Amino acid sequence: MNDLQKEFLDIVADVRAHLEYQRALGVKSIELPSPGVQKPIVQPAVSLSLPEEKTVVAPAAPPVVKEAVKSPATVQSGKPATLESIREEIGDCTRCKLHKGRTNIVFGEGDPQAAIVFVGEGPGFEEDQQGRPFVGAAGQLLTDIIEKGMKIKRAEVYICNIVKCRPPNNRNPEPDEVEACIGFVKKQIQAIKPKVIVTLGNVPTQNLLGTKQGITKMRGTWQEYEGIPVMPTFHPSYLLRSPGEKGKVWEDIKKVMGRLGIAVPAKESGKEGHRSC
Ligand code: SF4
Repeated sequence: MNDLQKEFLDIVADVRAHLEYQRALGVKSIELPSPGVQKPIVQPAVSLSLPEEKTVVAPAAPPVVKEAVKSPATVQSGKPATLESIREEIGDCTRCKLHKGRTNIVFGEGDPQAAIVFVGEGPGFEEDQQGRPFVGAAGQLLTDIIEKGMKIKRAEVYICNIVKCRPPNNRNPEPDEVEACIGFVKKQIQAIKPKVIVTLGNVPTQNLLGTKQGITKMRGTWQEYEGIPVMPTFHPSYLLRSPGEKGKVWEDIKKVMGRLGIAVPAKESGKEGHRSC
């Protein structure tokens, strides 16, 4: 092999390595740079290795990548937010003063494609400890409403709160705290696209719906948030203090079940249907 052939084979090897790299990046086609040359688009899959003895035409100048390789940032910004990306956005949040007393951020849990999203006001002691929503006594009652009442698994719905960090002494979140945090629950709802939202108590009902009306008046009446039907009802912690109100919540939940086409158990469809929750 003479020097010219050797040099040519080196060029061929370089071009082939470049094409393999472009293919690894997902580039499907490239364009030769000279506008006067009527050559077809070069496919990276075509091997440029040639038998050493053959006479060949020298390859064209280094190819120009036709399709820009998108950076991860571009790809991410072009997609709608997911629950994972929203959690990443929250990070180790210090956007409001509630971060000072929290043990864990309580993001929310459940089916990312749930038909129902339950929205409470904020984590309590147990939730703060475990980093999960509605796991204390009120949480057990909510679980009973879902599993014994609606006859669906808790994991099939999505449960979250208006604020992600526990307010001290379980007080209601203050307006500045809600303002700092509410964007995240709105993004969660956007990502999940539920068929129905159930707001539990005054805080989520008033803040999500932008109303000052109390839950006693609002509960049991269909509302709307961004085109999604909303059913306000009492918070389970209120039911623990006022168990006589369980029947009202069950009436509200039956409306949700009806809206979603979930059959109400026969023995619960009558007036005493509140026993299961
Ligand atoms: S409550 Fe929300 S905004 Fe405030 S620190 Fe926690 S995650 Fe951040």
